[in-house]
Amino acid sequence: MDSVIVVGASLAGWRATEALRAEGFQGKISLVGEELHLPYDRPPLSKQVLAGTWPPEKAVLADKKRSSELRIHEVLGRRATGLNVAGRAVALDDGSTLTADGIVLATGAAPRRLPGTESLGPTDGLHVLRTIDDSLSLRAALTSRERPRVVVVGAGFIGSEVASTCAGLGCEVTVLEVMDVPLSNVLGPVVGAHCASLHGTNGVSLRTGVGLERIERGEAGSGSGRLSAHLRDGEVFDADVVVVGIGVSPSTSWLESSGLTIDNGVVCDDRLFVADGIVAAGDMARWLWRHDGSEELVRIEHWEVAANAGAAAARSLLTGRADAPSFTPIPYFWSDQYGIRIQVLGNPGGDDEMVITEGSFEEGKFVAVFGRGGRLRAVMAIGKPRQLMGFRPLLQNGASFDDALAHGLS
Ligand SMILES: Cc1cc2nc3c(=O)[nH]c(=O)nc-3n(C[C@H](O)[C@H](O)[C@H](O)COP(=O)(O)OP(=O)(O)OC[C@H]3O[C@@H](n4cnc5c(N)ncnc54)[C@H](O)[C@@H]3O)c2cc1C
Repeated sequence: MDSVIVVGASLAGWRATEALRAEGFQGKISLVGEELHLPYDRPPLSKQVLAGTWPPEKAVLADKKRSSELRIHEVLGRRATGLNVAGRAVALDDGSTLTADGIVLATGAAPRRLPGTESLGPTDGLHVLRTIDDSLSLRAALTSRERPRVVVVGAGFIGSEVASTCAGLGCEVTVLEVMDVPLSNVLGPVVGAHCASLHGTNGVSLRTGVGLERIERGEAGSGSGRLSAHLRDGEVFDADVVVVGIGVSPSTSWLESSGLTIDNGVVCDDRLFVADGIVAAGDMARWLWRHDGSEELVRIEHWEVAANAGAAAARSLLTGRADAPSFTPIPYFWSDQYGIRIQVLGNPGGDDEMVITEGSFEEGKFVAVFGRGGRLRAVMAIGKPRQLMGFRPLLQNGASFDDALAHGLS
């Protein structure tokens, strides 16, 4: 293999380029990215960068020096518009085409928009949060006036982190969530309700089970906010800033005519191949995850999975489809809210069985163990990182739920 194109200049793509060089690949690496920036990290965008405790430069993953050390051919500010699988060719939005022996697909995911808000953007007070530019523009809006009223739509992890950071900046924050119990689809109703209670105890108003009908510009001179969020039951929330955090969609539209299987992400085998000579990684990839004697197609939007998948995909490309090993991580995720860190190992589901094996909600520190079909599925902890990591070997070895509970309770 003499040349590789990496499409998507962010975490998974960057880790792929690093792994290619670490494995001794001497050929040409072209890194194509829609953003003008070299790769940077996204987790600080809802935390330290938004709060202003980190300068944006601290989130950088790869600077010019590192990029030149790795002899990366940067193709930034360019969007890939199509892929020819047989010809291993990537079409770009300037009409040019790049070809190579191998391709890494790593175009990540993009925020879902609220229907009906297409004409509204940051200058109107409506924000999403995915890029460093999003984070800086949101921060500017939050700090441009005294105690702005902020409405956060969505009490998932990103929405909750934004609410937490906004509260820390002294904003008046309301979170609107369509589910009765936020995060219950991931952590179940009991742990979900505990996480949701963090908003109230930190001065943030959380409204659950509410349907948002529309967002409108406030009327000039009416004394209302710049925007108003109208609920289906007629209630209206005026806001200076509205942040929409209702999840992301995999960025795969540019692959639609490629012939690859697109189904909630680009579908990969267990080694991250989508076709011979083409691999995928990160938030856009739905791969066959073999674990615990079973297999399932999963797409996991976590920093650690994206980082490891980028490196694994590059190694798979160099090794070849026949001999590459399966990518079988134990997913890990964290979220920082209101000064606490929520950590999750494994892949929990909302209807898993759940037992608290250590600590309690009252203490604010606990370990929750999740099982399904008699097997250990996941472990979640607040304030108990060492105990959480103690479950890693059990997840790796496909422990039974009973064995996991015995471990946790011992
Ligand atoms: C605000 C925020 C906070 C987060 N916090 C946490 C956290 O606390 N813990 C955690 O585990 N995870 C967190 N995550 C998730 C984590 O950052 C993602 O899982 C990770 O960024 C995924 O990396 P990726 O490289 O797959 O995709 P992305 O980071 O989405 O990067 C994809 C890149 O591809 C580019 N691109 C897209 N389409 C094209 C195209 N057609 N042509 C060229 N380029 C294209 C995009 O512009 C982007 O730069 C957070 C994410 C966000 C947004």
